[in-house]
Amino acid sequence: MSKREFQTEVSQLLQLIIHSLYSHPEIFLRELISNSSDALDKLRHLTLTDDAFKALPFVPRIDLELDEEKSTLTIADTGIGMNEEDLTSHLGTIARSGTKNFLSQLSGDAKRDSNLIGQFGVGFYSAFMVADRIEVVSRKAGEDKAWRWVSDGKTGFEIEPAEREVAGTTVLLHFNEEGKQYANSWRLQEVVKKYSNHIAFPIFLTYDKSEWNEAEKKSEKIRTTEQVNAASALWRRPKNELTADDYKELYKSISGDSQDPLFWFHTRAEGTLDYTTLFYVPAKAPLDLYRAEYKVGVKLYVKRVFIMDDAKELLPQYLRFVRGIIDSEDLPLNVSREILQQNRVLTSIRTASVKKILSELKSIAANQPDEYLKFIAEYNRPLKEGLYSDFANREALLDLVRFKSTKVEGLTSLADVKSRMKEGQKSIYIITGGGESLLRTSPLLEIYKKKDFEVLILDDDFDEIVFSGIDKYGDIDIKAVNKSSTSEDLKEESEPNREEALKPLLDKLKAALGDRVKDVRASVRLADSPSCIVSDEEEPSLQIQQMLRAMGQQDLPALKPTLEINPDHEIVRKLLTRSDDAITQDAAWMLLDQALLMEGAQLQDPAAFVHRLNRVLSLSL
Ligand code: ADP
Ligand code: MG
Repeated sequence: MSKREFQTEVSQLLQLIIHSLYSHPEIFLRELISNSSDALDKLRHLTLTDDAFKALPFVPRIDLELDEEKSTLTIADTGIGMNEEDLTSHLGTIARSGTKNFLSQLSGDAKRDSNLIGQFGVGFYSAFMVADRIEVVSRKAGEDKAWRWVSDGKTGFEIEPAEREVAGTTVLLHFNEEGKQYANSWRLQEVVKKYSNHIAFPIFLTYDKSEWNEAEKKSEKIRTTEQVNAASALWRRPKNELTADDYKELYKSISGDSQDPLFWFHTRAEGTLDYTTLFYVPAKAPLDLYRAEYKVGVKLYVKRVFIMDDAKELLPQYLRFVRGIIDSEDLPLNVSREILQQNRVLTSIRTASVKKILSELKSIAANQPDEYLKFIAEYNRPLKEGLYSDFANREALLDLVRFKSTKVEGLTSLADVKSRMKEGQKSIYIITGGGESLLRTSPLLEIYKKKDFEVLILDDDFDEIVFSGIDKYGDIDIKAVNKSSTSEDLKEESEPNREEALKPLLDKLKAALGDRVKDVRASVRLADSPSCIVSDEEEPSLQIQQMLRAMGQQDLPALKPTLEINPDHEIVRKLLTRSDDAITQDAAWMLLDQALLMEGAQLQDPAAFVHRLNRVLSLSL
């Protein structure tokens, strides 16, 4: 027997691991099973590629054996195994580049250091959280000798020759106080299912099962071996081996949804990064879609080992309705939430995943329009959130979102709106700021009706915020009809004489309204109504201002609207012929107030409005 000391760094690392992972020691089992799975992968690879190994038997399995009385657990595999040298260097020194790297970054600041742990594998050493003595018996594939490595995880380890019938590794844990809870078959099954359910190899558990003996009328312990994992990382199998039913079944098992999903997108990426993603779109929007504390639907796996299912970093928030799996080959098993936020691997996976989801949706929109409508009925709104938050994918999202319009029943796409543009029409027009019926009857739409230009009705309460930042679809401008600038295509042949004639009236109205408006001018957008309100390009509309005030923003500068009047309207024409100041005064306010009312805005002084109305009414009687 030879005694060896750990490299000093090993003891240091052990302490750190024990402290930083202390709150969930159960991950020791995830780490040991994943080592076995790696070892099985390696041997399988050799038997497939190396002539010297082709003849070796390969019966892949992982066996857990529990001895409740002795409080021990073995984890045995039929993988590649380790010889004396491997045991010394892999389990006794910091040979692995990841760990070396890790240690070089240690600062001595305990809190910062334990955050760092998430960037690197902790692996085998995590077992010392639950065991005060670990024995590893291993025999390397293709070699005759076996070796036993024993350590208490404190100072060093011992290595001696041992016996093992076939190649592989057996790890024997003597549980400590902390580990005792795992000397329990229920607990073990629970932990295996949680983290290792989709490991590609079968995991068996041998334990004393209590069974009722009818003859003797008592329960007795029977040594039993059962497979505890599903061993079906379905997403790792090639697409052509999977049926629609396979996909649906997996969806139901990971989502808890009893309905079939609407679509799924399965992607295998190899190259700089190696990962698999399988995303599902549920048929019905999850109930918590609009709650701040929504449940994350995508689970993160590393090499088929479950890592976490509550990481909001995996996909952007607007895709929170997506369910599924991201399985990476490149992340460490112990990756922490803090690390995920700035991890380059995950950022790349996320970017590619979003592109993939959006492009798949686009092709569904093109090829299965009916299915796409079902999707839009549930998810149009989150896509709009994406327009607001995901600048990089704005183009793609603009093509996916659907709109109500003055021209078609139901919903339409920007591409279709573009194809319907009239000759001479320069922009795509939208109207925001109110409910559907208010918008559809807005005086602002009159000129567009007259010209037969289509206007999109954006009646979602947050449409205005979303679309205030979007001014182009491809090379075509998107313009809000309630903004003060009007595009060229709306202007009629101008009549300079009439504008001259109108000037004195505009001045009078402006004088009457004083500070209440920014300007009063002749409108080109009205046909049937005498007046309307418009705001400046960069200013929030009246509705948004009201909303912000309602949300408690009291210190908003009072923005002044511009009043536009319709030179062709009877009221305006008659006003032009009056020189009577009292009438003009009342008319000025009534033109403003009715325009505000049509916008769904509240009047600042309803009493004054009613007085004026009555005054005018009695005059006309
Ligand atoms: P990692 O798995 O990240 O490399 P671990 O601490 O979990 O780190 O394991 C250290 C090394 O020990 C592994 O890289 C592997 O070479 C070896 N090893 C651990 N467990 C086994 C096993 N069951 N079979 C073969 N080799 C193993
Ligand atoms: Mg490992």
